[in-house]
Amino acid sequence: MHGKIALEEHFAIPETIMDSAGFLADVSWTELRARLLDIQERRIREMDETGIEMTILSLNAPAVQAIPDPAKALEIARIANDYLGEQVAKSPTRFRAFAALPLQDPDAAARELTRCVKDMGFLGGLVNGFSQVGDGKKAIYYDLPQFRPFWATVEDLDVPFYLHPRNPLPQDSAIYEGHGWLMGPTWAFGQETAVHALRLMGSGLFDVHPKLQIILGHMGEGLPYSMWRIDNRNGWVKAPPNYPAKKPIADYFHANFHLTTSGNFRTQTLIDAMLEIGADRILFSADWPFENMDHAATWFDAASISEADRLKIGRTNAQKLFKLA
Ligand code: MN
Repeated sequence: MHGKIALEEHFAIPETIMDSAGFLADVSWTELRARLLDIQERRIREMDETGIEMTILSLNAPAVQAIPDPAKALEIARIANDYLGEQVAKSPTRFRAFAALPLQDPDAAARELTRCVKDMGFLGGLVNGFSQVGDGKKAIYYDLPQFRPFWATVEDLDVPFYLHPRNPLPQDSAIYEGHGWLMGPTWAFGQETAVHALRLMGSGLFDVHPKLQIILGHMGEGLPYSMWRIDNRNGWVKAPPNYPAKKPIADYFHANFHLTTSGNFRTQTLIDAMLEIGADRILFSADWPFENMDHAATWFDAASISEADRLKIGRTNAQKLFKLA
């Protein structure tokens, strides 16, 4: 399929590049590093070869979220966002941008998102899970009350917020001890991000800000598969849900979330996501450079779905969500 739009595609700046070391075998680092630092050359070539007309770029992970000093986090976010703005301006028909946001300081994050959207035409924010604060050992999640003014800004700006994975901190990883292979995309990324998304849903955030639209990668980080059970645990007991939100969790999932196919190129999984959230809320993505554009595109272009759904997921859902002309 030609004209695809992809939206979980990452780059790095010198200040954040080493955050991506260690996720793949050392022999792959030279290659991964080069992929992350390139924007205008190989990336565009691969997009041409795989029918991707446009990608919405975002900084690598965990980057800004792993800088406990709020002033430093803001400084790196601004450097990355300014650089990304320049890169998009060089190829405006091929690239658009998500802002990196220093959520260690919710007010600073709201101001930076506003600057990026209003002054530089960014299409939203992409944040790598919880932010570390204080001595760096504390993880803060965005359902907490201090983030409500930030979310009000996101809703006012009317832009989506991409909740991207990161690994849990070492002191929060007891379950993975001795099983390091479960960290990262194998399992820990999805677990961490799914729980964060559920915290947002259960907190009542979407009762107060019903227009918010959150994007999850990796076909929803496992949530579509579990959505019924989340609301129906021990259904014969008829106990009211014990969380601040007013509605069943699935209601928020269906109204306030979008999923991308990033790093999850499996038709069975796509069909489950389509049955749960609908083809209108699923968007094509690759997760370059951690996954290959050709792996994503070869799978998606031939996946056993209707051509109408392929067009939505590959292109028109993104045009609608991001108000692309
Ligand atoms: Mn990613």
